[in-house]
Amino acid sequence: MQCGEYVASNSEMEVIFPGIADMADLMKAPYSVRFIDMDTIRIIAPGGREYPLPFRGFTVNRALMDQAIAEQAVEEGAELMTNITALDVSGHKVITTKGEFEGKVIVGADGPFSRVAKSVGLEWPVSSPAMSATLEGKFSNTCDMYFGNFAPGGYAWVIPKGDTANVGVGVWPRFKGNLNAPFHAFLRKIQLPAVRGTGGYVPIMGPVPRTVKGNVVLVGDAAGHVMPPNGGGINTGMICGRIAGETIHEHLMKGTSLSDYEVRWRALVGKALARGVKIRKLADHFFGSDRSLERAMRFLGPKRMGRAIRCQRVFFAR
Ligand SMILES: Cc1cc2nc3c(=O)[nH]c(=O)nc-3n(C[C@H](O)[C@H](O)[C@H](O)COP(=O)(O)OP(=O)(O)OC[C@H]3O[C@@H](n4cnc5c(N)ncnc54)[C@H](O)[C@@H]3O)c2cc1C
Repeated sequence: MQCGEYVASNSEMEVIFPGIADMADLMKAPYSVRFIDMDTIRIIAPGGREYPLPFRGFTVNRALMDQAIAEQAVEEGAELMTNITALDVSGHKVITTKGEFEGKVIVGADGPFSRVAKSVGLEWPVSSPAMSATLEGKFSNTCDMYFGNFAPGGYAWVIPKGDTANVGVGVWPRFKGNLNAPFHAFLRKIQLPAVRGTGGYVPIMGPVPRTVKGNVVLVGDAAGHVMPPNGGGINTGMICGRIAGETIHEHLMKGTSLSDYEVRWRALVGKALARGVKIRKLADHFFGSDRSLERAMRFLGPKRMGRAIRCQRVFFAR
């Protein structure tokens, strides 16, 4: 499991991406497997100063959530196959480890190093390494984000799930080396026992330039549908996934161009994600040292930090 299992609430999504319709229906599966509701994200500065930010979200059982989404798809008529890997896409053909399949439209929802994207010459998003593990213990009822030199260009997190918490660390894309060192430095810092983490990548530098080519569309991490300031990709992946599904349906029924998918998701989430990239780039200037981070956090204060994690304008708010 490579996930902090934190999902932002529908009310937050409506603030970050105004104009989204029918979130309750879209997010049925995550809400059906939720553990703990939280109304605060606590930002912890390198020196220990805490900035509580009002932000609503909850933890899920990600494995059950993914299964619930798959079940919904099957109920709607999808055929589910497991233990199968796509190797190449060529025209309408998908070559897999279990033979060849044909599709009028092919969706690459296969993560930041998408084989589908690569096969048709679409770009991969810029990704950052991250590592996490689940630990037992007593944890607060807030989603905690720790900043400091132990997580260069990123942050570490403790996300409570009841008797356990997901603990992890993410860094900037240019990080070279083994993430075990920052991960274990963080565990020591918050006095948790050393455990083995599992690694993954998060596309935190915004969407790829093109998400449609011919009969192929990219969705989720493959498209870079992740909020750059916080690395959350569950909500955005689902929002854009629905837009993809609806556009493909219209394409098959009415001949709507598949490129409308790109226009539609950019209209709904594109601006906020682009602002998120700017926020990350600005933050990178302060990530060099604990002192400059500390100063920047004091200057920003909780209100502006709250706007930053929501991909909103940090200065000159309207
Ligand atoms: C350590 C870590 C913690 C995170 N924590 C959070 C969090 O708390 N909240 C949040 O919102 N986001 C979090 N994210 C980001 C989030 O996990 C992703 O944005 C989200 O899972 C994207 O969904 P997806 O369906 O696009 O891709 P994925 O969830 O990566 O799913 C892609 C699927 O495609 C399959 N696949 C890949 N290649 C092939 C192939 N060639 N053939 C067939 N199948 C293939 C993979 O096995 C996988 O099942 C985290 C990421 C990491 C790495």
